[in-house]
Amino acid sequence: ARSPLTHLPVKSSVINVSSLQHDVRAMSTFKYDKAYVNGKWIASKNNATFEVRNPATGEVIGSLPDMGHEETEQAVQAAYKAFYSWRNTTAKERSNFLRRWFNLQMENQTELAKLITLENGKPLADAAGEVAYGAGFCEWFSEEARRVYGETIPSPSPSKKIVVIKQPVGVAGMITPWNFPNAMITRKVAPALAAGCTVVLKPAEDTPYSALALCELAEQAGLPPGVFSVITSSRTNAAQVGKVLCEHPLVSKISFTGSTIVGKVLLKQAAKTVKRVSMELGGNAPFIVFESADLNKAVQGAVASKFRCSGQTCVCANRFFVHSTIYDKFVEALIDAIKKLKVGDGLEEGITQGPLINIRAVEKVETHISDAVCKGAHVVIGGRRHELGGAFFQPTVVTDVTKEMLCARQETFGPVASVIRFKTEEEVLALANMTSTGLAGYFYSNDISQIWRIAEKLEVGMVGINEGIISCVEAPFGGIKESGIGHEGSKYGIDEYLEVKYLCFGV
Ligand code: NAD
Repeated sequence: ARSPLTHLPVKSSVINVSSLQHDVRAMSTFKYDKAYVNGKWIASKNNATFEVRNPATGEVIGSLPDMGHEETEQAVQAAYKAFYSWRNTTAKERSNFLRRWFNLQMENQTELAKLITLENGKPLADAAGEVAYGAGFCEWFSEEARRVYGETIPSPSPSKKIVVIKQPVGVAGMITPWNFPNAMITRKVAPALAAGCTVVLKPAEDTPYSALALCELAEQAGLPPGVFSVITSSRTNAAQVGKVLCEHPLVSKISFTGSTIVGKVLLKQAAKTVKRVSMELGGNAPFIVFESADLNKAVQGAVASKFRCSGQTCVCANRFFVHSTIYDKFVEALIDAIKKLKVGDGLEEGITQGPLINIRAVEKVETHISDAVCKGAHVVIGGRRHELGGAFFQPTVVTDVTKEMLCARQETFGPVASVIRFKTEEEVLALANMTSTGLAGYFYSNDISQIWRIAEKLEVGMVGINEGIISCVEAPFGGIKESGIGHEGSKYGIDEYLEVKYLCFGV
């Protein structure tokens, strides 16, 4: 078969968001008004659209096709057809494509970052960091694509030889969240394409533009039609799109990042055709500060882990457990550090905390705070909607939290540090492990044997030890318990898109 990657138009690209200013007229001339299916920019069958809003201003930044069953079916068929030529490209060709895609993303880092800030609200510097992190998966998997090695295994019989090969799973259906509109996509799509799979993706309804920008750059990097399609849909139609992806017999793999509740729905649907699944679901990360901890370092780590993306990352610390002997000191230092945070529109200079994604998210934060206060907790700083209005919320610390409170039992997903007092290692381990989720966990200690003990006993997939920021493309990202199945990034990430096949040779 002729390789779809032989003629590669590498244009230098500038996404048309650089012209976007901070006014609505400029935003309404937003370039994308179509989704990207089978290499074409298309509207929905019935021309229905949904609006996307800037969470900082509440203003509409554009409308996109509200797609459903039919368009998803079309994208799946195209992906299935494309799979048979994409899988036959060489690993080096796929690697080269991913490298070009990476380069284009980095060349357009500022424009992609603006787009993230516009639709997600996070500060521009954080958004630029996300673009570098997200593009990094394309670079990393362009390298890993060439290292999908098989194996020979010593045979128990002289008349048989055992060989193991790895092959792409097939069409991968993907659904991604709004908190990392760019990186949650490349973290899935790059390993899938590297492995030889093709992809149909449904991005979050709040942040679909970053996904479309990635399509434009992929196209410029030489992406053949059907290999990576993006279906846009409103929240109402998301379930329809998800159902087609999960139940379609031509889709072999589902990869989802989002809430545990939606993950469970998708798992059930995918069971009907026994699909491979990867799930990156919610967390409720413990952050433990032991007596021996370096308090300054712990406070720094706490702020970085808790208030990045306004507390809307799945790995962000949700429950702060602080040893009773240093509890007051820690809270005091945390309040001082929080006073330095600057809340505002992420496009403005010096902002460190943007708005929450929408009012629904603000209401959840308010529910958690009022529940805690009713049950005896104290708000020592913040606790209210920010004076900027809309979806802005004050950075908040709540003390005297107990395990019965909502903010300890569930992910708050907002800028609220809930602080719990503890006395013994045994007690804090039981509290840290009491949740049904197990994504990330953090602790600060300078006692070497305690460090080893806690690292082993924390029931999570990732542990930050004297460190509050742990994600990088080189390390495996994933959770245990109800936080998910499988890993993304690292050398393990590509395995999620590969089948192991055993070949038995009679000789
Ligand atoms: P969500 O689960 O509501 O939405 C995630 C995606 O699923 C969106 O694209 C949405 O449109 C889609 N969706 C919603 N209902 C669906 C359905 N019935 N069928 C198919 N698709 C459906 O989550 P969210 O509100 O976007 O994000 C917040 C949650 O996601 C938090 O709990 C957070 O911990 C979790 N999250 C986890 C990770 C991770 O890597 N583990 C990363 C980001 C967010």
